[in-house]
Amino acid sequence: MYDDLTLEHFMEGLVKRNPHEPEFHQAVKEVAESVIPFINKNPQYKLAHILERMTEPDKVVSFRVSWEDDDGNIRINRGYRVQFNNSIGPYKGGLRFDPSVNLSVLKFLGFEQTFKNSLTTLPIGAGKGGSDFNPKGKSDREIMRFCQSFMTQLYQHIGPNMDVPAGDIGVGSREISYLFGQYKRLTHQFESVLTGKSLEFGGSLIRTEATGYGNAYFMQAMLAHQKEEIAGKACLVSGSGNVALHCAEKIIQLGGKVLTLSDSSGTLYVAEGIDQTKLDIIKDVKTRQRKRLSVLTEQFTCEFYEGKKPWHIQAELAFPCATQNELTEQDAITLADNGCIAVSEGANMPCTPESVQIFSERGVLYAPGKASNAGGVAVSALEMSQNSIRMSWSEQELEQKLHDIMQQIHDQCVKYGSKNGQINYVDGANIAGFIKVADAMLAYGVV
Ligand code: GLU
Repeated sequence: MYDDLTLEHFMEGLVKRNPHEPEFHQAVKEVAESVIPFINKNPQYKLAHILERMTEPDKVVSFRVSWEDDDGNIRINRGYRVQFNNSIGPYKGGLRFDPSVNLSVLKFLGFEQTFKNSLTTLPIGAGKGGSDFNPKGKSDREIMRFCQSFMTQLYQHIGPNMDVPAGDIGVGSREISYLFGQYKRLTHQFESVLTGKSLEFGGSLIRTEATGYGNAYFMQAMLAHQKEEIAGKACLVSGSGNVALHCAEKIIQLGGKVLTLSDSSGTLYVAEGIDQTKLDIIKDVKTRQRKRLSVLTEQFTCEFYEGKKPWHIQAELAFPCATQNELTEQDAITLADNGCIAVSEGANMPCTPESVQIFSERGVLYAPGKASNAGGVAVSALEMSQNSIRMSWSEQELEQKLHDIMQQIHDQCVKYGSKNGQINYVDGANIAGFIKVADAMLAYGVV
């Protein structure tokens, strides 16, 4: 009775409406591939043009950020907030400060966030923002002046029930503190308008650890479903930021053997596995002084592979926790040849679409970041809850909640991604994330 929606036709329209936005096109295509067959079986979504509406952000704000550097020069950057979808709760998602930031990247991340936040089971909508400001090499005072100027432009667009930003690449607890201080100064309100705050002013325990811990929990759930476990398995972790270090920590606690971490100059390889003592040394080196991993060869027995990523090393499990498109088709082939059985993304889209195809052909379990790294934003939502009731939950309570949320995300993927005895976690995450938002949009009528 109705013509089926086709991927080609849908993507043609999307590209026409959003020219020159390759990152956004990639993210939408990946979701559309899963969701269009589902929509064709459920015509209420097609008739209401739900996917077309979901790919158009509710609102995009862009503003000038002028600030003064330490030499008294006036510097100009561009700031953005993409308010993608608030059907199931206030806009929620990070701010990224990095020279690679542009509208296409933020629309890609904001679109992903819609599905990720829906999967958390918590009432949070989706947004993303940031600036092309490069924090590298800037003094503490310059960072402060930039954050204050950024918030002076942003504050009128956010609010505890409207839009609640958090950190992302280039925005950590120092930047959140400067941003929050400026919001408070401008509005005279002490409100839960940012998450990832410090503990003294409304932050939550476990927020720092949440994305990395959550990723390890997701892998645990995925393996348990196959009657497997992390204990005793060799693991490759890439990256050495917050997500990677805490993912490694939880893997160690669950009995896994973490062989690697990496940074932009190469891979640290510890043949007998990184234990908690070594991890503490690494954390110290990375978090306090932002030093390179290569300095660790002077501190304990390890090797440093200059200019290499971890994926050529033999292991059963892989946790890409560094950045976008860091794991290529060739890396996926090497991992599969070396007996890797499962991959769980800690970063946002670290595996290229070609590598994901290889995993599927070779029977390697693959968890997309929108499911496996949702622990960070989930604990952000728990920070909002604690702020609302003016209480703080204990570490133990929060870790239990995080663990249960990751299990529920996993179970939703299994429910919607199972076909012929196999689980496709990409389809599962996309369809489960879609249904909740789509049903809310249908209920609201044409908005
Ligand atoms: N930037 C993180 C993410 O990609 C966290 C966002 C948040 O806590 O709001 O999910």
